[in-house]
Amino acid sequence: MKDFDILIIGAGISGAVLAERYASIGKSVLMIEKRDHIAGNCFDYYDENGILTSKYGAHLFHTNDEGVWKYVNQFSDWYSWQHKVIARVDDKTVPIPVNITTVNTLFNENIKNENEMQRWLQKNRIAFDQPKNGEEAVLNRVGEVLYDKMFKHYTKKQWDKYPVELHASVLERIPVRDNYDDRYFSDVHQALPKGGYTKLFKNILNNPNIQILLNTDYFEVQDQLSGYDKLFYTGPIDRFFAFSEKLKEKLEYRSINFVREDLDQEYFQENSVVNYPGQDVEFTRIVEYKHFGNQKSAKTSIVKEFTVDEGEPYYPVPNQKNQEIYAKYKAEADQLIDVYFVGRLANYKYFNMDQAFRNALDLFEQLEFKKTEKLQN
Ligand code: UDP
Repeated sequence: MKDFDILIIGAGISGAVLAERYASIGKSVLMIEKRDHIAGNCFDYYDENGILTSKYGAHLFHTNDEGVWKYVNQFSDWYSWQHKVIARVDDKTVPIPVNITTVNTLFNENIKNENEMQRWLQKNRIAFDQPKNGEEAVLNRVGEVLYDKMFKHYTKKQWDKYPVELHASVLERIPVRDNYDDRYFSDVHQALPKGGYTKLFKNILNNPNIQILLNTDYFEVQDQLSGYDKLFYTGPIDRFFAFSEKLKEKLEYRSINFVREDLDQEYFQENSVVNYPGQDVEFTRIVEYKHFGNQKSAKTSIVKEFTVDEGEPYYPVPNQKNQEIYAKYKAEADQLIDVYFVGRLANYKYFNMDQAFRNALDLFEQLEFKKTEKLQN
């Protein structure tokens, strides 16, 4: 194999950013990807009805990070998309995050303004100074009834764990609103790339200094690779150390089984994402992709998401036990010279997309800032 400076394992956000950054300072980059496509879990494609569909679940970009926003705008045009989610609860449909409409609809209340909503929340919440887990985090915000109806079983389906078995941060990802705002996120920038994420990644990786090997498992070819300066690994950290005698405990990851149904009708549901927080169905949510960007077609398809243990790892499972196991892997990883672990699976962190961009950009700056400065001068 041809000599190169930088070896990158994985063509998701972290890998693509590092490849682009190193290529931009004249380094030759070899990127190795196990799957048959770039873009990691952001991969999307046009289906047979011409609808832009994500293969691994809906990806909604949102950020308050101006640096990241500027960075991604170099590689795609973006259109504003304020993501909304609704939930089927009992026989009702309500906004999630919880807002005034959610409470009025579920409990036949007549709350009209922020003060009244704050009073309702105050009356219902069970206060915890510092929530120790996901259950306390939700009770602290909305109290028991909403916890039971909207969070407890959804979380069990999503993680195969009740909120009490997870870090508070998992449940704190979604806010509770004292107004009528029904957007899923509150960030300044909420947008989707025109033409999709795969196109965005193609543009990020469009540099003659970057060579990409798809359908290639790094662990099967690593013996043939040498002579590079730095290795960036973005896969599951425990897989990297799979043959270590010392580290035998496996980290937990959650995967998703996406079950697609093609329907001979224009629409199936009134919104892109509908959550099912009840115990009556096993899936967590149904995504109808044509809603994103208001795509038009005579037919539609929907994707039901069943979260499962086995399969491609998508989510680290944030709790104490996994954090302790991860710490052991990290200690081992820190011993390695010129090998860097980066991204959701390698850092074992539940990053949003913008955080993944930020971490990769920061790592590059940290490692190369002085060299970059020299090159520029
Ligand atoms: N969650 C819930 N009910 C919902 C939506 C979310 O209980 O209707 C909880 C659940 O534990 C989930 C977490 O909030 O894992 C974070 O939700 P988010 O939508 O951020 O998850 P993602 O989109 O990353 O799957």
